[in-house]
Amino acid sequence: MSDIAFIGLGNMGRPMATNLIKKGHRVIGFDLSESASKAFSKIGGEVALSAVLAVQHVEVVISMLPSGEHVKTLYSKEFMESLSPNTLLIDSSTIDVTTARSVAALCASKGFEMLDAPVSGGTGGAQSGTLTFMVGGREEVLEKSKPILECMGQNIFYAGASGSGQVAKMCNNMLLGIHMIGTCEALNLGARNGLNVKDLSEIMQKSSGRNWSLEVYNPYPGVMENVPASNSYAGGFAVDLMAKDLALAAAAGLDTKTTLPLGNTALHLYRMWSETAENAKIDFSSIIQFLNKH
Ligand code: NAD
Repeated sequence: MSDIAFIGLGNMGRPMATNLIKKGHRVIGFDLSESASKAFSKIGGEVALSAVLAVQHVEVVISMLPSGEHVKTLYSKEFMESLSPNTLLIDSSTIDVTTARSVAALCASKGFEMLDAPVSGGTGGAQSGTLTFMVGGREEVLEKSKPILECMGQNIFYAGASGSGQVAKMCNNMLLGIHMIGTCEALNLGARNGLNVKDLSEIMQKSSGRNWSLEVYNPYPGVMENVPASNSYAGGFAVDLMAKDLALAAAAGLDTKTTLPLGNTALHLYRMWSETAENAKIDFSSIIQFLNKH
């Protein structure tokens, strides 16, 4: 069993850290938000007063932060100097490839191994420990980390050198944004043409329109239990985080002269929907409300 520091105890980080505790690891958590830290201590986690204090004397550091800027800020000089030799560093946040590669290079220059290991599976997958990890870095380091990642996930894929996990994640989330909007369009169309949306969802789940948004994350309120749509779109994966991921894909598309007509359309729709602070924080399946209004 390992001593693990977990930085970022939000919608994803908290259940991931909880699963590590359940598997017998000692987890020292830190989050800038007092309410996130409190929620973690309520379920039996130890809470440190700063990231620097959390990472002292641990064997593994996992971060689960909103964006590349947050990860860059975390990996400060003081943070690097607080690590014990041989500490394994894993960043599971979804961030831009450039930052992932530059943080990994910083770690390598100080003699530390680092993996970018973003995840898919949503808050449900984080709670049930069934996340998919897409990992970039040295393959030997991934092999060493598997016992830790397996406490939180079911599928662990090696994607390639540093940053490759983020490339895989960016492609996946662009597709997720697109099929969530497509699913919302189809369900809205059915509802406005008199169908019961639960029945329509069942039909499409067994037909060629089936997809993850329809099968495990239905965006229409009341169709499925335990999804954000049936809880006023609270929790889950925030609209502004989906807009961030689509912006990462759009930027990578520009860099490589890759045409992304649907990805860019999804980005614009999510940007419009996230214009109010209230919308920005609710779950991304709420885009169905935007479609309903326009
Ligand atoms: P969240 O906003 O719920 O949690 C992020 C937490 O990080 C917040 O509690 C915030 O206070 C904390 N934080 C920010 N800067 C910090 C710092 N310097 N030190 C300590 N804590 C800090 O976000 P989330 O939904 O948990 O997502 C986290 C990451 O996981 C994002 O990159 C997101 O894109 C990715 N992701 C989310 C989902 C999902 O369904 N929510 C799924 C897959 C991947």
